[in-house]
Amino acid sequence: MTCKNCLEKPVINLINNNIKLCKKHFNKYFEKKVFKTIKDYKLIGKNDKVAVGLSGGKDSLTLLSLLLKLKNKIKIFDLEAIAIDEGIKGYRDKTLDNAIKYCGENNVRLNIFSYKEEFGNTLDNFLKKSSMKACSMCGPFRRYLLNKKSKELGFTKLATGHNLDDEAQTIMMNYFRRNLETSARLGPITGILKDKRFIKRIKPLYFLTEKEIATYAFLNNLINEFSECPHSSDSYRGDVRDFLNNFESKYPGTKHSIITSFIEILPLLKEHFKNTLELKNCKICDEPCSQEICQTCKIVEILKKR
Ligand code: SF4
Repeated sequence: MTCKNCLEKPVINLINNNIKLCKKHFNKYFEKKVFKTIKDYKLIGKNDKVAVGLSGGKDSLTLLSLLLKLKNKIKIFDLEAIAIDEGIKGYRDKTLDNAIKYCGENNVRLNIFSYKEEFGNTLDNFLKKSSMKACSMCGPFRRYLLNKKSKELGFTKLATGHNLDDEAQTIMMNYFRRNLETSARLGPITGILKDKRFIKRIKPLYFLTEKEIATYAFLNNLINEFSECPHSSDSYRGDVRDFLNNFESKYPGTKHSIITSFIEILPLLKEHFKNTLELKNCKICDEPCSQEICQTCKIVEILKKR
């Protein structure tokens, strides 16, 4: 069995079109797909100051390595990284070490913020005092800090390592929870309205699967072990992920179909919901939100009372 394009041994079988590729041709396919997404969806423009949300895992390190390649080639935008230390012992400390090492070796400025400094404690300690599910607390905290700190640091775009699997899960979660308005904010570039209180999030890895990204990261020595947050299976998303993975193994191509159909209806969703959003400023922290008090401040207030 050989690569579709040469006589080398294949490193991957691309599920969506059953094509086998060797390392060289897989890297070529992968990078072309990322750069095409950036071009087709105009994710990065001249004079953009881009922050990569860097966790130190396979997705964000792959993303940073490719944006660095692009930056060195076209030289029209600035690039830094921003990392959030949630305080998850045995997990985040390890991935942060990867992030610090990569940025040090590649001369990328890394801005690190922690829950302990910003909210008063680590996620591990907050969870000891609360019955909330880890991701219900951690998700809003991280989104909040990434947006707030990106604005303070003057970034114009926040690039995240979200992949095709992540997006397919989010789309299905929003269907299951009858939350179409949230889906309207998805896509390779997020948001419905232009509002300077929100930094635009871009997802250059949008059309690549988790398997493809893991393969790229290992083949190119970006990571040498797979690490997963200990809370990731203990969530609604974890259940949807398992459901979709089972479905995908029985009916290959399911996740691609979810994304392709979603991209077709996304412009209609954005149009439909564009006038229903009313943004306010949180009365406690002044960050943008849809209610009087933002979700992060609500959680912090509850935790203070415990
Ligand atoms: Fe936070 Fe949940 Fe992600 Fe872990 S899986 S980093 S707890 S949001």
